[in-house]
Amino acid sequence: MKNNLLLIFLTFLLISCKTIPIEKLNTPGLLSDAIENQNSIKIYFPKLLNRENILGDGDGIVILLPDDEVLVIDGFYENTSEIYCDFLKSLNITKINYLIATHMHGDHIGSFPRIIEEFEIENLYTNGAFLDREPSHLFEDAIEEYELEAKVLTAGDSLNLGDNENPVTLDILWPSLTEEDINKAFKNPGFTEEFINNTALVIKLVYKDFSILFPSDIYKSTEEFLVNKYGNALHSTILKASHHGEFYTANLPDFIKCVAPDYSILQGTRYINSVIDKRYKEAGVTLLFRKSAGYILVSSDGKDYAISEETFNESSLIYEYSAIRAKEEQKRREEQQKEFLLKLSETKQN
Ligand SMILES: [Zn+2]
Repeated sequence: MKNNLLLIFLTFLLISCKTIPIEKLNTPGLLSDAIENQNSIKIYFPKLLNRENILGDGDGIVILLPDDEVLVIDGFYENTSEIYCDFLKSLNITKINYLIATHMHGDHIGSFPRIIEEFEIENLYTNGAFLDREPSHLFEDAIEEYELEAKVLTAGDSLNLGDNENPVTLDILWPSLTEEDINKAFKNPGFTEEFINNTALVIKLVYKDFSILFPSDIYKSTEEFLVNKYGNALHSTILKASHHGEFYTANLPDFIKCVAPDYSILQGTRYINSVIDKRYKEAGVTLLFRKSAGYILVSSDGKDYAISEETFNESSLIYEYSAIRAKEEQKRREEQQKEFLLKLSETKQN
């Protein structure tokens, strides 16, 4: 049943996925090259419906490298895990060569236990700061069960992906966590959500002349640190807005000025508002985000790049998929309720 649905879903995607360019950025004619060129890198920012059939929150970025390897950075909340896995499968992904958890908050690693269960994982990287709570525990359990090695990335590390002709580099700009910092995340009852967000990996992906900066959920203090340390070296063609585009904890004008991207992409829905839109506009940057299910796709041949988007409309199977998940969830809740009432009546009888 599940396989049949997936097949229909895949067929539907193949038939319906007409790429609609939302911006033509370079010389006309090169747009399709940037998308179709077999040496191109494709970076998907999906916006998916969750199990409750509403738009899921959090970060999840899927990158198809020029040599066909797959890099996945983060994975939404747990209630988006089935749909996120289906989305990966719709891109014909069976193996993830590089899976990266920027930090251990639920809106970034919620889907990871399921992804580890459903896909072959070749390399797993984290910031090393596991937390004494869910879903960090479940993530650790999955790592142990599938005998994966969670390698720790830290500022100064550089991963060389792609092949000799089409090299893709991941430069890790942050964090510089000491053993003490990591222990603090476990043991100090006073550690804050801000502290955890500031342990997030900041990754700059470079493919020839094209680059994209992923600052995950860092706050202003870390943005400031990066501005002081790297200055204009932060410059990237595209920026993923820090901390889901929140304007009072992150996205400092100085940081935006240093990165000086053409576009900034916001993931998550919580903080979409006119303040953040205006802040980017004032820096001469266009902010892109989705308010409905679908994805934003950035593709580049290392020279030119194109941005397009795809909407999963209400007749699409991704909606039906979510409806099925929602029904399953409803049934589970009803059963829980029944069980609870039964226990209650038993207690009363006793
Ligand atoms: Zn987050």
